[in-house]
Amino acid sequence: MPELPEVEVVRRGLEDHVVGRRIVGVDVTGVRTARRQPGGGAEIEDRLTNRTVSGARRRGKYLWLTLDDDDAVGADCLLVHLGMSGQMLVTDEGAPPVRHMHARALLDDGRELRFVDQRTFGGWTVVPLADALDGTGVLLPAPAAHIAADPFEEGFDPLATARLIRRRDTEIKRLLLDQTVVSGIGNIYADEALWRSGIHGRRRAGALTLRSVTQTLEHARDVMSDALVAGGTSFDALYVNVNGASGYFDRSLDAYGRTGLPCARCGTAVVREDFMNRGSHFCPVCQPAPRRSAVGRRSVAR
Ligand SMILES: [Zn+2]
Repeated sequence: MPELPEVEVVRRGLEDHVVGRRIVGVDVTGVRTARRQPGGGAEIEDRLTNRTVSGARRRGKYLWLTLDDDDAVGADCLLVHLGMSGQMLVTDEGAPPVRHMHARALLDDGRELRFVDQRTFGGWTVVPLADALDGTGVLLPAPAAHIAADPFEEGFDPLATARLIRRRDTEIKRLLLDQTVVSGIGNIYADEALWRSGIHGRRRAGALTLRSVTQTLEHARDVMSDALVAGGTSFDALYVNVNGASGYFDRSLDAYGRTGLPCARCGTAVVREDFMNRGSHFCPVCQPAPRRSAVGRRSVAR
């Protein structure tokens, strides 16, 4: 699954290479790629043809292209679901077809924007823009209107988000992954942010200080920002690496995927435990697990 830094690298690539181009022809061959569109591939072809790509936007892990100059409520945008393995490729005119190519848009400069997706969990949908439900005044694709701001956004307020997290008072990691609380933090960066904070993911948010929750959100932003720098902004690397294999993003990780390896802070072996059908990776010394009775004691204290 691509994480926010990978999606951001794709967005930058699209901004550099596709924004400003007019779409002169569209061909959607993948039935699954168009499955979210009521009118299927034919509707996507219809609604994209002769439109000019005016912007490449992202919130959390959602990525979309705005069309024409019409950046207003109700205007069409192309929502790109990368799924597990989706890639947005820009190829030169006359480039040979590749395997797992399910959609392509011919641009007015002769190049092609292609959607390649081996596992077909991804897809394209043309949807209207809507006001974000969080009141930030940002326009989002309607199916993503409920998504909260991500830590890279100007309108993101770490302190207000930390207050919201503490009020919800469930496990901190569950809240970091809740896209209606803060978007864009996936399993990898939740583990990394918690490691940097020295907090176990199963600790209850309401039992943590406002300062430590705020810091955890700042760590999440920093660790994703570091990944973005490490991942580079090379156009080629971007399209190779957006397949979700994580590749070079892993090099700077301190907790995720490091089961049995020494913690960079104290040398204790990193532990993995099951969490929300995935894994949590943490240092058992730097990030002590909550006591089992913590939940009961807290409700009594209230
Ligand atoms: Zn440690």
